[in-house]
Amino acid sequence: MAVDSPASDRCLSGTCDYCTQRYDNGKNMVCHEVWEYDDHHHTATLTDFALACRDYNFLLHPGAALEVGFRQEATGKGSLAQRGTQAIEHLSTVNGITVEEAHSILG
Ligand SMILES: [Zn+2]
Repeated sequence: MAVDSPASDRCLSGTCDYCTQRYDNGKNMVCHEVWEYDDHHHTATLTDFALACRDYNFLLHPGAALEVGFRQEATGKGSLAQRGTQAIEHLSTVNGITVEEAHSILG
């Protein structure tokens, strides 16, 4: 992730901080909060914001990906299987690993 420049500059670029993907329409990017957790002091500190593409946001929040998949399936606009396949393929592409390795990471 390119966190060496201010978050506002990175957001204006419209480029995903995690995989450098850009959407042609400049929309559908997600502002992701970056937190640091200190279990010893029981604190959570918001340290940065990152711009995430839709595909990478689903890797950051697999529970949200499931919710979207269920909703798409209920409305006939997609399926849970499609959402899962999309997440696995993106994880594979971003990390240069096989689809099988991506499956093992997500369990
Ligand atoms: Zn991305």
